[in-house]
Amino acid sequence: MSRATADRAGGVHPHRGSLLGEAEVRAVAEVLRADAPLSMGPVREEFERAFARHVGAAHALTVTSGTVALEIAIRLLDLRAGDEVVVTPQTYHATAQPLLATEATVRFCDVEPGSLNMDPDALETLVNERTKAVILVHYGGNPADMDRITAIAHAHGALVVEDCAHAIGAEYRGRRPGALGDLSCFSFQASKNITTLGEGGMVCTPSPELARRIDRIRSNAVDGTFTPSAHRRPPAALPWMAYADYAYREDCTGLRGSGTNAALSEAACAVGLVQLGRLPEFVARRRAIAAELDAVCRRFDVLPLTAAPDAVHPYHLYTALVPGDGRRDRVLDALQRSGTPAQLRYHPVHLLPEWRLRGHGEGECPVAERLWFGEHLNLPCHPAMSDRQVETLGANLAAALSGRDAPARREKEPSCP
Ligand SMILES: *Cc1c(COP(=O)(O)O)cnc(C)c1O
Repeated sequence: MSRATADRAGGVHPHRGSLLGEAEVRAVAEVLRADAPLSMGPVREEFERAFARHVGAAHALTVTSGTVALEIAIRLLDLRAGDEVVVTPQTYHATAQPLLATEATVRFCDVEPGSLNMDPDALETLVNERTKAVILVHYGGNPADMDRITAIAHAHGALVVEDCAHAIGAEYRGRRPGALGDLSCFSFQASKNITTLGEGGMVCTPSPELARRIDRIRSNAVDGTFTPSAHRRPPAALPWMAYADYAYREDCTGLRGSGTNAALSEAACAVGLVQLGRLPEFVARRRAIAAELDAVCRRFDVLPLTAAPDAVHPYHLYTALVPGDGRRDRVLDALQRSGTPAQLRYHPVHLLPEWRLRGHGEGECPVAERLWFGEHLNLPCHPAMSDRQVETLGANLAAALSGRDAPARREKEPSCP
């Protein structure tokens, strides 16, 4: 099958982040052909119910992106000057970004060297009675030590916000990310484990009160507490004005903040439903590729990040640590020369310019800094990769790790997504 034919037949284009096939096309067509709403309709409800069931969350609310999910979650913390938030530095900068718009004091918490996830021992030293929230990521999809982290946070009255952007399909002690925190944020952006037409997100929560507030914020409604106000009934002369009745029944003195429009379209939700059904297939493929890369790494004293025995790692990112003076840089150069799109994800957030401007800098998270600048290596791992691509990647990796020249790059052969 030619690449163009394969592409038409259902998604192996190496530069397309997700695997979209005929089932997704049909799902969109059904929405477009139906005499039904394009937004805020039954498909969104169905996707949210299915997703809540999948992760085991009480409430799941779609939004337009993972970034918006995090913005809403952090808005719900009602942060004020003097409040503190603990956040991981080893994540995509969107995890901590909404904190830049608050006056809270941000404390970056170092990571565990074996997983790059938030280190509960470091967390213990950072929480106090001013801590309002602990914000973590399941790095690469590998679940963080949630039992310990939530115990520490809750003992100080702090909420736990999980960034689950990588963790769709992960398991942790028989449960799933999304049902482990007080607020859990997902991304369905094209590169993530499943997608809703390229962009999308979800917030999950066990709290009906938080779910109600998320729903108001995403619908451009004001965020606040409404109490029935007996003395402001609609005028008896205007009983047909249902909306007036609604307005008059509510006392708006409790209003705070404002809303936004973060409604995810019906077509996007229809794609999400199909993709959720295909998730086991995607995760199995990612795990099979990771197992092949693990075998190569171990032959050369390179440490792949692996999950705890009671967790399932969906390998949104495949990460290995390459110890040795300058060795990681040499390996990275060799991989790039061989056409392998190896990357480093992510530059420690506390060292990004916006956070340096707020007084953060070197030495704050020594483990995260040492590993990222010295050992960290991400390799391609995506279900759209063919067996041949995985084989080529393994050969290039072995060559780079052994210090030999990589096999010559074969022209026309698609590189990895
Ligand atoms: C992708 C990602 C986000 C942002 O999600 P978008 O849907 O792209 O806005 C947030 N956090 C992490 C860790 C991510 O990987």
